Amino acid sequence: MLPLLGKTLQELQEITASLDMPRFTAKQMAQWIYEKRVRSVADMTNLSLANRQKLADAGYEVGYEDPADAAVSRDGTIRYLFATQAGKHIESVYIPDHERATLCVSSQIGCKMNCYFCMTGKQGFNGQLTTHQIMNQIFAIPESLSLTNLVFMGMGEPLDNWAEVSKALEIITAPWGMAWSPKRVTLSTIGQMQHLPDFLRDSQCHLAISIHSPFADERAQLMPVQRAYPMADVLALLREQDWSHQRNLTFEYIVFKGLNDDARHAHALIKLLAGLECKVNLIRFHAIPDVDLQTSDIAQMERFRDLLNEHGLTATIRASRGEDIFAACGMLSSMKRG
Ligand code: SF4
Repeated sequence: MLPLLGKTLQELQEITASLDMPRFTAKQMAQWIYEKRVRSVADMTNLSLANRQKLADAGYEVGYEDPADAAVSRDGTIRYLFATQAGKHIESVYIPDHERATLCVSSQIGCKMNCYFCMTGKQGFNGQLTTHQIMNQIFAIPESLSLTNLVFMGMGEPLDNWAEVSKALEIITAPWGMAWSPKRVTLSTIGQMQHLPDFLRDSQCHLAISIHSPFADERAQLMPVQRAYPMADVLALLREQDWSHQRNLTFEYIVFKGLNDDARHAHALIKLLAGLECKVNLIRFHAIPDVDLQTSDIAQMERFRDLLNEHGLTATIRASRGEDIFAACGMLSSMKRG
């Protein structure tokens, strides 16, 4: 099966050229796939029967793959599992919240980055997701049409799969694709500097950077990426951008009890981010097996937040969702749970 879902307009044009179909049929196909959301080439009724047959004979299908499993949380969050070629599952988390409905999308099967606190990191890297597999997460869930926002915060480091993720962002925001405003999409990275400049140049989507400590040595303990791509270099790059109105810049900060939740850390964070148009998201840590870290208590998190806010650094505590189904931040892994 050769899936069409996940193809860019240029790739569709290459397909139509290779099958001697008129060039304009590529745009028609994009419309059927991304706007009208048909599940079968046979339903692309403004393509001639002969051209539909050519596509079918060449092995092309729209290519929806339904979730293998779903777990519904008490708070309405749904964790979907999708099968992959690696024999491992990837996960997408649907998070309804009043008038918003966000899907947290995975970009890799596992992850290479080995962050100390992360369940996905513990399972290692099992391969890249294709653009088809990324788009399928968005299209194949029952709530697809009600989605208002997308966050690339699921399994994997999206900038470590930039070739496929960049095509997905193009399809999501292009007029011939889903035609979403980039303001509805956030990419979250730990600061993978190889492709951060590409993202900043090619996309207008919001950016979230996982920082978790203002101190380089402590951050390196939590996130080995710090050694390859120091946060100082990431911040230097971010300071070159105009963040005043184009898009949001957020720093994600998991608050660990007794590790990074005191006034010393708050003041260092304020100093580090001074002058950057950004906000800080404080995230509760969700305990995972074999990791000797605990979450801060809420009073300490509130003190930390207030200190940041008093010094002009906008900070909020992110509501935790889906903890009972292991869907919360840092808990995703491809282990199937009952
Ligand atoms: S936190 Fe993100 S980058 Fe780090 S190991 Fe987990 S999935 Fe990978």
